[in-house]
Order: sequence, then structure tokens, then C-alpha cells
Amino acid sequence: MRAYVPDFDITVPDRLDDALKMLAEKPGFYRPLAGGTDLMVVFNAGHQIYKNFLSLHKFQELHGIHVTDEEVEIRALATYTDLRYHPILKAEFPMLCQAAAESGAGAIQNRGTIGGNIGNGSPAADTPPALAAYGAEIDLISKDGVRSLPFRNFQTGYKQMDLRPEELIRGVRLKRKSGRLHSYRKVGTRKAQAISKVCFAATVRLESGKIVEAGIAYGSVAPTVGCCEKLEQKLVGLSLAEASKLDPMEVKKLAGESISPIDDIRSSGEYRLKVAKNLAADFVSNLENLNV
Ligand SMILES: Cc1cc2nc3c(=O)[nH]c(=O)nc-3n(C[C@H](O)[C@H](O)[C@H](O)COP(=O)(O)OP(=O)(O)OC[C@H]3O[C@@H](n4cnc5c(N)ncnc54)[C@H](O)[C@@H]3O)c2cc1C
Repeated sequence: MRAYVPDFDITVPDRLDDALKMLAEKPGFYRPLAGGTDLMVVFNAGHQIYKNFLSLHKFQELHGIHVTDEEVEIRALATYTDLRYHPILKAEFPMLCQAAAESGAGAIQNRGTIGGNIGNGSPAADTPPALAAYGAEIDLISKDGVRSLPFRNFQTGYKQMDLRPEELIRGVRLKRKSGRLHSYRKVGTRKAQAISKVCFAATVRLESGKIVEAGIAYGSVAPTVGCCEKLEQKLVGLSLAEASKLDPMEVKKLAGESISPIDDIRSSGEYRLKVAKNLAADFVSNLENLNV
């Protein structure tokens, strides 16, 4: 049964400061509303438990993708379309562009935001694995200022986040560094308009022919983004040739340790585990074929 519209209320403040005061005065009362592509599905199904929405759209502070010599800052209201076609992201953080391009279809990409994808807290969201692999920082804003933390620490459990009721996600920041290789794979029922069964984002960074940083993360196979720290550590210090000769069984074992896939309506835990391990082994054995 659909929700009864008059039961719901939307407040549209002009200024971010006012909104942050409202959130602080009534913690948990307002639900931030960005593109609405997650919230409205629940609303339409008649399951929306939040009655008071707070529209974020007028806040210029939450819009845009800002580039400096050191970093790229993606503010929370950047849409998938913004991400997908941004020239610096395409050149330096292509996994985010690919995640955006493979999320929903045009209408969702024009409306859905990165802040909403993160704030929804779904383990099946497609941008978080790429953000975790790139070592992004997340910025949270409240009336007391901005609090930053590694994106990897932000999700704390199934649909649980280190986000206080008085805070909004302001955006994420990515360090610009040369020498990265990237591999993003989304496995779903079909090529478009499918929620991931397994999502895989992996990057290594090279200096003088050796891997100096590795970021490998999964979506849809654990309650939060699954980061393969042991496999990342294994790769650091190796050349691409050395890495690509690692025993695939060992790579699969290390990758599998960081995830705990379950059965649900989209897939079985057994299938997900097998595919996830294969994606990691495929990434490592093909490292020499990836382009910087
Ligand atoms: C047909 C369809 C296809 C889809 N396909 C995909 C897909 O392929 N991959 C995928 O990952 N997702 C997909 N989605 C889910 C959805 O589109 C994304 O998660 C989207 O990024 C949500 O962004 P939004 O701005 O619409 O969020 P909203 O619906 O406005 O908000 C989502 C949640 O985040 C919170 N929130 C939003 N902004 C902030 C903020 N700045 N600070 C704090 N909390 C915030 C809201 O309170 C809410 O809880 C799909 C949805 C639909 C309807």
C-alpha cells in the first residue's frame, strides 16, 4: 500500500546553517532528503517510517566537485551524472565514474547523489567500494564544524554508520596521486538497472616499478564494505610481474577472509563467495595488463 502523502512533511531551509541548527535542536526528527531515489522507493511502498524530511537542495556548500593540486573533493549532492562525466575523475578515479555509469539508468543517474548512496548505508551500494579502495576521507558537518574520518571506518555494521543525528555528510575527498592502476567490476543479473550481487573495486599505485599502495574492496558480500587488508599488504613491495605470479589459491584465500556473503533475494552466499574470490584472483593475475 502506498504512503498517505499528507502524513509527510518536507522542510526546505534556505541556509545550511539553519538546517544544522534544526538537526541539533531535534536530533533524529528530520530525515535528510537529497535525490530521494532511495527514500521514495520506501515511501512508495508505504514503508517509510520517517515523517519529516529536510531538503538539502538549496545548500550550495553541498554541491559540486572541487579540484585542487592535492585532492578532489566530491560534495554530497554531486549526482551520478556529475561523477560519470567529470574529466578529472575520469582520468584519475575511473572506478567512481564506472560505478556511476552502472548505477540505475539515466533518470536515477541525474537524480541520485553520492551522499545519498553513502547515507543510505546499504551494503549493496556501488560507490562505497571504489571510495574505500581509493582511501577516501569522508567529511561530516554539524553546527559545531566539520568532522573527518577515513571512509573505511564510516560504515560500522549493516545500515549502521558513524553519523550522528545532528550531522550531514558534506562530501568525500580523494588524494590525487600518479601511478595508479584500477579495476572495477560489478556483477549483477544484467548489465544495467541491476543491484550488485558482488561489486569489486581494486587499485594499486606504483613508484619505481613497485607497488607502494593497494586498495581492494568489495560491496554486497558483507554487512559493510569488505576491505581486503591482508591481500593489500601482500601486494605492497612487489613488482607487477611478481604480483601477477602469486598463487591464485592464496589470493583467493586472503580475499575471502574479509567477506561474509549471505543468501538473499538477489543471490546465494556460495555464488557470491566464489565470484568474489575469482574477481580478486583475476585482478592480481592480470595486473601487468592494466594501463596506468
Ligand atoms: C531504479 C533504481 C535503480 C538503482 N540502482 C542503483 C545501483 O545500480 N547502484 C546503487 O548503488 N544504487 C542504486 N539505486 C539506489 C539509489 O539510487 C542510490 O543509493 C542513490 O545514490 C541515492 O541517492 P539519493 O540522493 O537519491 O538519496 P536519498 O534517497 O535522498 O537518501 C538516501 C539516504 O541517505 C540519506 N542522506 C542523503 N543525503 C545525505 C547527506 N548529505 N547527509 C546525511 N544523510 C544523507 C537520506 O536521509 C536517506 O537515508 C537505485 C535506485 C533505484 C530507484
